[in-house]
Amino acid sequence: MLKGKKALVTGAGRGIGRAIALTLAAYGADVAVNYNGSREAAEQVVKEIQALGRRAVALQADVSKEDECRRLFEQAEEALGSIDILVNNAGITRDNLAVRMSEEEFNAVLDTNLKGAFFCMKQAGKRMLKKRSGRIINISSISGIRGNAGQMNYCAAKAGILGMTRCLAKELAARNVTVNAVAPGYIETDMTAALPEKVSTAALSQIPLGRMGRPEDIAEAVAFLASDRAAYITGQTIQVDGGMGI
Ligand code: NDP
Repeated sequence: MLKGKKALVTGAGRGIGRAIALTLAAYGADVAVNYNGSREAAEQVVKEIQALGRRAVALQADVSKEDECRRLFEQAEEALGSIDILVNNAGITRDNLAVRMSEEEFNAVLDTNLKGAFFCMKQAGKRMLKKRSGRIINISSISGIRGNAGQMNYCAAKAGILGMTRCLAKELAARNVTVNAVAPGYIETDMTAALPEKVSTAALSQIPLGRMGRPEDIAEAVAFLASDRAAYITGQTIQVDGGMGI
């Protein structure tokens, strides 16, 4: 499905990003595995991709910094050739009630989750415009659609991702580049493992399919959007949430 394609996945050493990198590789793509702090984990993902017979490289970059995103794309191209698929997955939380949230907590989440995606979309957009093809997939969240108490910073960033997705979809459509989002619900990763039991029990009770999502559930939707099968889909959001957002 993705044979010969080259993908760059941000935050791909752990969690959902890791599953996306491995799934794209399983469908035939070579993958640049971006990480910020988790070098060993990213190198392990690279090994697993190479074991599938695909090419892979681990590249450190903090996506909240524009110059690091520029370097990330240059290094990814150097290692694999021009990038066909960008997945903006890197994300953090700094949860707090709105009335208690500090400017630092607000900015940290906006810098990584929103500006990080903007910087990478700029890099990918420039290149894909010239190539007249490409796929950009942004990982949003159900929190960006429905809102979630204690996450004003995160909800703003994830709703912003959806706005940027629609904007860039319109800007790049004439050049055969599609831009879509995937909005996960409640997925089993380090991010959700850190939540208090009370919160996770309450979240679970709101999922019609009766279980938390797995990172692979998200990765399959991303792989579909990255493939030729999704050639006529742009500016859209696929909610992969076990029905939580119905
Ligand atoms: P994890 O906390 O498990 O992993 C976060 C990933 O983001 C890590 O790979 C981390 O890299 C990377 N990252 C964080 N900051 C940066 C940065 N500045 N530059 C580069 N990479 C960075 O999170 P999940 O896997 O759960 O989440 C992945 C995405 O899915 C996020 O955007 C999240 O908001 C979204 N999401 C998750 C949901 C869930 O239920 N888990 C629900 C909805 C959306 P490193 O370890 O190298 O620092």
